[in-house]
Amino acid sequence: MKFIIGILISVNLLFGFSYNLEPKAVNNDIYCFFGDVKEPNKHNNGFMVNSCYIKEDGFYIVVDSGPTYIFAKESFEAMKKIDDLPVKYVINTHSHDDHFLGNGYFKSLGAVIYASEKFHENRNDGRMHEHILPEAFDGTTTVLPDKYLTNAEEIILGTTKIINKGLHGHSTSDIIVYNEKSKTMLVGDLVFNERVLALRDGTIKGWLDYIEFFKAYDYEYLIGGHGHDTSRQSYIFTKDYLTRLENEVRKAIEMGDGIDESAKIIKFDDFSDYALYEELHSKNVFKAYQLLEWE
Ligand SMILES: [Zn+2]
Repeated sequence: MKFIIGILISVNLLFGFSYNLEPKAVNNDIYCFFGDVKEPNKHNNGFMVNSCYIKEDGFYIVVDSGPTYIFAKESFEAMKKIDDLPVKYVINTHSHDDHFLGNGYFKSLGAVIYASEKFHENRNDGRMHEHILPEAFDGTTTVLPDKYLTNAEEIILGTTKIINKGLHGHSTSDIIVYNEKSKTMLVGDLVFNERVLALRDGTIKGWLDYIEFFKAYDYEYLIGGHGHDTSRQSYIFTKDYLTRLENEVRKAIEMGDGIDESAKIIKFDDFSDYALYEELHSKNVFKAYQLLEWE
């Protein structure tokens, strides 16, 4: 009996929880793990976010370390099969937990982690474990960045530039990553596609200004924090939604509609088939109203 239990435990350890990750090549230098377009749940186990690897000369740069320790470990194991390079740097595009809770794994490999100096404003690391399987969260702890970019600072790592424009966009801590060699822009949650965005910690004006800022770069691929579209135009879904939100809410304020009423009646029928519309749209209207009310 002991023997059988022993075998069962070993099998469980060997074949424990797995995300079954497969990297997708965006171009010759960029590989990404594209997550589910939903909120974290016990099916996706937090893999509802994009995490990417930039292949530099002799090392990788990871852009967003993902939702858990196990996710980070599995993503790196998959990348080693493509090219067995060390991860030298990790960039956290902002401080929402789905984007940075994999830091602990990369830190254990000796990687240096970069983020905005505003990383600790709106930092969110308490939500993931409530929504996913405990075995997926195993080993995950909050590991903070090592280096912080000040306002307007740029840092060059190989053929990659990290840029902190210092605007309050999706959050206060948004930074963007530009790989010059492959002409790829990685912008975290400044771009959502295939699902409705979350305005929760953001501002409409700063977000639209950030989009105008990165659009001016010479790039061919644009990778957001959520959604699979990596085309140059993949910001349009986000820009259209935010612009529309601003216009409709301004109109409601001018007409004297209240905040609760506006959150109920402002509907975007052409976005309603997209994921998370039911969960997030009226919250976005509510937040937009709060932002625009006193302008
Ligand atoms: Zn976010």
